[in-house]
Amino acid sequence: MIKFHITRNNLTVEGTEVKKYCLRNIVKMDIFEHINRLREDDRKYIWHPFTQMKEWVEEPPVIITEAKDCFIKDIKGTWYLDGVSSLWVNIHGHGRREINDAIKAQLDKVSHTTLLGLANVPSIELAKRLVDITPEGLSRVFYSDNGSTSVEVALKMAFQYWKHKGVKSRNTFIALNNAYHGDTLGAVSAGGVDIFHETFGPLLFRTFRAPSPYCYRCELKREPDSCKTACLEVMEEILKRHSDEIAGVILEPLVQAAGGMICAPGGYLKGVRDLCSRYDVLLILDEVATGFGRTGKMFACEHEDVVPDIICLSKGLTGGYLPLAATICTDEIHEAFLGEFREMKTFFHGHSYTGNQLGCVAGLACLDIFENDRTVEKLQPGIALFNKWLKEVEKLDHVGDARAWGMMGGVELVKDKDIKEEYPWEEKMGWQVVYKAREKGVFLRPLGNIIVIMPPLVISEENFNLMLEIISNAIQEIT
Ligand SMILES: *Cc1c(COP(=O)(O)O)cnc(C)c1O
Repeated sequence: MIKFHITRNNLTVEGTEVKKYCLRNIVKMDIFEHINRLREDDRKYIWHPFTQMKEWVEEPPVIITEAKDCFIKDIKGTWYLDGVSSLWVNIHGHGRREINDAIKAQLDKVSHTTLLGLANVPSIELAKRLVDITPEGLSRVFYSDNGSTSVEVALKMAFQYWKHKGVKSRNTFIALNNAYHGDTLGAVSAGGVDIFHETFGPLLFRTFRAPSPYCYRCELKREPDSCKTACLEVMEEILKRHSDEIAGVILEPLVQAAGGMICAPGGYLKGVRDLCSRYDVLLILDEVATGFGRTGKMFACEHEDVVPDIICLSKGLTGGYLPLAATICTDEIHEAFLGEFREMKTFFHGHSYTGNQLGCVAGLACLDIFENDRTVEKLQPGIALFNKWLKEVEKLDHVGDARAWGMMGGVELVKDKDIKEEYPWEEKMGWQVVYKAREKGVFLRPLGNIIVIMPPLVISEENFNLMLEIISNAIQEIT
């Protein structure tokens, strides 16, 4: 028997507001029966990503039914602030009319046709816009459908480029420790997060490893103020000895995101660019997480006036509405693939949904909003507020480091601050804090002991302040 209570405007079921259900539905079907059935079916039929399913089935899943602005609503009617932008993809908020309208209008024309042997309008228009807004020199767009594939494309493109140049020996890459480039095997080969990647070791190709620019836990045991980016010296050593084996250097500019929101010191990226030029290897920037305003500029590489040879874009490309990715390269690279049919210089890569029209119109609408709302410019007060808060939260007893570039940041929890002792992984300290924040209305997802903070860029100062306050309180209550 359900206990519901109807006021003039809304319906409350056992204390929880349930706007979605009208009385007619309630009479037909017990709302709790409905929710429970969905919960059971989720546990029965779905394998959730990056999730220990044995634990997952022990808790009732939060089932999302609706979202608006920076908030997501579950089936019981509880609203949460979407503190990680639905896994880092959402830019302008949920339910933006401009993006919704663009997708709806495209639906009535055509949803998808292939780019293999055919062209289509939205993919052409979006490619032109992307070439316009990415750094000068990047001029050719290759579409795929997610961040991992954008990286696969970049790796294969760089590899084949050297073959076409007549260089046979450049068969691997330099990648960084703590790097994350996605979950397909090529991307995992370039990855450097042991807990995600170690298992697959036997399946991966070999890469050279450069140190992660992780000043708080420097692999080279240097102090940030006096080190003069010693990690670049290590990369240079590798290049000195092996540049004839290396097709390119791949890295996430400014922030190694999934590796723990590791923020590189200023000058590091520029240093890598200089090394790549000096030793004549390609620079691939994976801006899947950092692109589209996240770091306070449209692309992270703009902070240091760096132009990569290849850039990978996905997550924010459609504002977080549809899966789409773009790998953009220079003329120099593209031209190396030109030749007679019989020369076999074709780039043999493509996906069923390459250049999908719905994704591309969402991308165009997303870029329109950037222009019309001056999104990047308007971020600056939020970034200032965030930085101020990071300094404050760093004073807490169990916060070792609090860092960010723009609107993407992390708070690293430590057991003992003086010796930077980590909480044992099994204690799930990050998760405990995140669950506490969820009780208070903020949805987050940690990376180990690091609390990730990455709200949609449109978040109001008021909501951002509230969110940060809730996070500080959750940290204090748990640690
Ligand atoms: C998320 C991410 C990827 C992978 O993107 P998917 O769409 O999840 O495949 C690649 N690189 C970086 C830097 C990312 O953050």
